[in-house]
Amino acid sequence: MKCQNHEKKNAIGTCVDCGGPFCADCTVKAGRKNRCKECASEQIKEHQSNKKSSDQPNIVVTQQTTNHSNSDSHKLRGSGFWLCFWIIVFWPIAIVYYFMRRWS
Ligand SMILES: [Zn+2]
Ligand SMILES: [Zn+2]
Repeated sequence: MKCQNHEKKNAIGTCVDCGGPFCADCTVKAGRKNRCKECASEQIKEHQSNKKSSDQPNIVVTQQTTNHSNSDSHKLRGSGFWLCFWIIVFWPIAIVYYFMRRWS
């Protein structure tokens, strides 16, 4: 069996989509399946257009990002609390220390 694109090369496998025989140079491995480069590029295009056209993946992505930002803001709120705490505790001490050094 010869490659569909190269008459002189032996085919190492067939494309799962178009069923044609292809050589190693023309075969793109997709997991355990082999695809010819043409079908593989079409698959990628389809995948990309599906992503753009359908809203569902976008919703999933936004949900993930909102969840992520929620947890981030929660962390920020936590660190912000400690920052405020240290500022509240240390500012009077720093001011008192500053004036004590000035007056002495
Ligand atoms: Zn193919
Ligand atoms: Zn080939």
